[in-house]
Amino acid sequence: MNLLQGKQIVLAVTGGIAAYKAAALASLLVQQGALVDVILTEAATKFVQPLTFAALTHRPVHTDVFAGWDEDASGHVTLAANADLVLVAPATAATLARLALGIADDLPGLVALSTSAPLVIAPAMEHHMWHHPATQQHVQTLQSRGAILVPPEPGRLASGARGDGRLASPEAIIQAVISLLEETDVLAGRHVVVTAGGTREPIDPVRYIGNRSSGQMGYAIATAAERAGARVTLISGPVALAPPPGITLVPVETAREMEHAVHGAIPDADALVMAAAVSDYRVAQASDQKIKKASDSTTLDLHLVQNPDILAGVNQPGLLKIGFAAETNDLLANAARKLASKGLAMLVANDAVATIGAPDSRAWLLFPGGRVDALPRMSKEQVARRIVEELGDLLTGSIETPS
Ligand code: C5P
Repeated sequence: MNLLQGKQIVLAVTGGIAAYKAAALASLLVQQGALVDVILTEAATKFVQPLTFAALTHRPVHTDVFAGWDEDASGHVTLAANADLVLVAPATAATLARLALGIADDLPGLVALSTSAPLVIAPAMEHHMWHHPATQQHVQTLQSRGAILVPPEPGRLASGARGDGRLASPEAIIQAVISLLEETDVLAGRHVVVTAGGTREPIDPVRYIGNRSSGQMGYAIATAAERAGARVTLISGPVALAPPPGITLVPVETAREMEHAVHGAIPDADALVMAAAVSDYRVAQASDQKIKKASDSTTLDLHLVQNPDILAGVNQPGLLKIGFAAETNDLLANAARKLASKGLAMLVANDAVATIGAPDSRAWLLFPGGRVDALPRMSKEQVARRIVEELGDLLTGSIETPS
């Protein structure tokens, strides 16, 4: 089956030695039925000829920012408007910086700014460049805006050194493209409430107890559920992520605000997905003035009380509950206990240290009755799509067997 039949993909090839590998990628995309518009930066043309891509895609190849502005087409604007997906492969360190900063002085920069299509980025570069904080920061910025990263692989680099920086395999890149463009309507007509991010429990007007949750998992689930046809309410703690388009965002700070928002959103909901990292405790009596450093003591005692367990406290007939467990030890045993004690239809377990704040995740899906699916390490977006597929199945099942 041609999984990309009729999809318009802009393949942006930028100027690194891995540019030659983009030819194989273009060929695989065409074999899957995609219409591939290749854009090359000037530097990319030093490594690989436009003719190679024209021959593989049977479409014009674009190398000039100022070409194509005739009465039928408006250059990059038309390319960007028609695209179902923009794939940058290989993405050099300079391209990552341009895309993160929105610098539109070449074709990939212009198309990326002009399109509303999803952006998939497969970087390739020398390992020092990849690990440089500047590059990592640009990657994080792009991911926080919803770009999908296909991370470079470790191995032998063109310089002869070994390290992270090889372009991901064509299969891994194609898989990321397919999973984004694959159409699903498993949640059509459903209302899904998702919580995301960490809560903040005030100590005084300027300080709080928080955690390292970035909100990426919950935001990815909200996006995937919306793409699968659901109406989505996203209840979010403070995060540095842009609100996904097409969803209702309810911002909250504390666990009790989150609890209130959840109860307000669920009466007509089909599912509640609690991906938020809710603080188990709050300061019993937050100070209404900034606490001053004491001169007669080197310690400060904070008296904490337990927060309500939001998920355990929701008991609405017909509402399917999905929980998360991030554990540092005895992962599956603790997860199984939570699945049962909170009355969940599914629990997503992951290693707290490896997952919280990271772009990818190693997760296990646990179901009542003992089924455990171990997922391979994958991006949070891929985990989110898998969760949405399972949610679709669970909701269908719950209709067929009313309780
Ligand atoms: O018990 P634990 O905090 O590990 O359970 C995690 C799951 O329970 C997550 O889905 C989290 O969102 C939810 N939770 C909650 N209210 C709390 C603590 C956790 O809903 N106070």
